[in-house]
Amino acid sequence: MCGRHLASPMRRNLLLAGASSITLAGLSRHVAVAAQPASGNAPNSIPPAEALDRLMQGNARYAANTPSNKDYSADRAARVSAQYPIAAIVGCADSRVAPELAFDQGPGDLFVVRVAGNFVNDDILASLEYGVEILGVPLIMVLGHTQCGAVTATVKALKDRTRLPGHLPELVRALKPAVQMAKVGHGEDLVEQATIENVKLNTNRLIVSRPLIGPYVKSGRVKIVGGVYDLATGKVTLL
Ligand SMILES: [Zn+2]
Repeated sequence: MCGRHLASPMRRNLLLAGASSITLAGLSRHVAVAAQPASGNAPNSIPPAEALDRLMQGNARYAANTPSNKDYSADRAARVSAQYPIAAIVGCADSRVAPELAFDQGPGDLFVVRVAGNFVNDDILASLEYGVEILGVPLIMVLGHTQCGAVTATVKALKDRTRLPGHLPELVRALKPAVQMAKVGHGEDLVEQATIENVKLNTNRLIVSRPLIGPYVKSGRVKIVGGVYDLATGKVTLL
């Protein structure tokens, strides 16, 4: 991960205040970068609604199979020293759901964290905090998808009361609350409902997360949204 100049004195001060406890070489470098004057006009200093609009327009192009012609070498040199992603995506590891393709965005546009079942644990949260605090991301989307294998496996494991091998029980543990929520509802398709509940639970977790992301959401500078990607159509539906 590489950084960008911090967009605001608030972010700069927050980072400098925590500098004494930062030991990672990468973040120390960002502290040094942060000490420079804030640029204030970073390309991703846009309202969250505009970022969302760009994503959904990109998804419409993708679903219609009319993606923008992209020259991926363009701006490659500029990206060496900085990145200005317009959104962070919490996506599933599923090979069929590639956020850059699904939203028709290029290198440097999206800050993507992926884990089977698209849930937020502390590691994912730390990455998102980096995206918001250091990179100035204005929008986070938790993106579930139809026919999710992780959700399906969790539903089955809970239903059959079986224990999956290896570390897979960790996945089940992370997704169990969503399945339980879905059971309470009146949805006919438990996997479909659990997928939706999982997105909602994790967007809500981010909205109230402390100490970094929640306050940005409250101030309106960062927006958290949930969406579900339809494997059959390629379309993302916002929840
Ligand atoms: Zn999945």
